[in-house]
Amino acid sequence: MDLPNSTTFSKLYLSEVFYCSEIGYTLVSIGQLNDASFSTTFANRRCIIYDAGGSCIAEVPQNGKGLYKLVRKVEEVNVVNESLTLDLLHQWLGHIAHSAAQKLVCDGLVTGLELKESRKTNLFCESCTYGKMTQVPIFKVQESERAKVFCKEVYSDVWGPAQVETKKERCYYVTFTDDYLWWTHVDFLVNKSAVLTSYKAFNAMCKTQHSI
Ligand SMILES: [Zn+2]
Repeated sequence: MDLPNSTTFSKLYLSEVFYCSEIGYTLVSIGQLNDASFSTTFANRRCIIYDAGGSCIAEVPQNGKGLYKLVRKVEEVNVVNESLTLDLLHQWLGHIAHSAAQKLVCDGLVTGLELKESRKTNLFCESCTYGKMTQVPIFKVQESERAKVFCKEVYSDVWGPAQVETKKERCYYVTFTDDYLWWTHVDFLVNKSAVLTSYKAFNAMCKTQHSI
């Protein structure tokens, strides 16, 4: 990076730099500079950095907030263009809405990235779904009146993952329990996202096999 030094600039090469996406500023550690044989003095609202030979390499004025801030004219970190999926970008940006993540890239507000595809539908994030789920207590005794006809009211539950998979790699199960008969239909699933498909099959079975 370029350090202001009187009327010119000195080059300072930072090594073992940590990339912290959540920090908007580049922080230079005085302790690390000292370890690298540089020395610093803070006086008269100026931070002066000397190299190992004692020559002044930078003079950074204090700003109004009491900070020694380097004003850079050009972006010195050249991020390699990264190509990633919208799902991955959604995760990288702290699980913001997929549409917002896509807009950031399309409008050029995030640079150095390009999207591999731009899907707008069928986006599913298991972490987001899990984070938004709520749980309500289940009564041990039924308080409401029981349904009077088959398939009027159906309860469903999903369980898993089991530590041991079945031979067909199923490690979840979903149940559909009819309130009238208290009859339970169980389906074993490879993953939780198969619940909707399972429900559709259950629904179709009720229609075709039981004329509901
Ligand atoms: Zn998410």
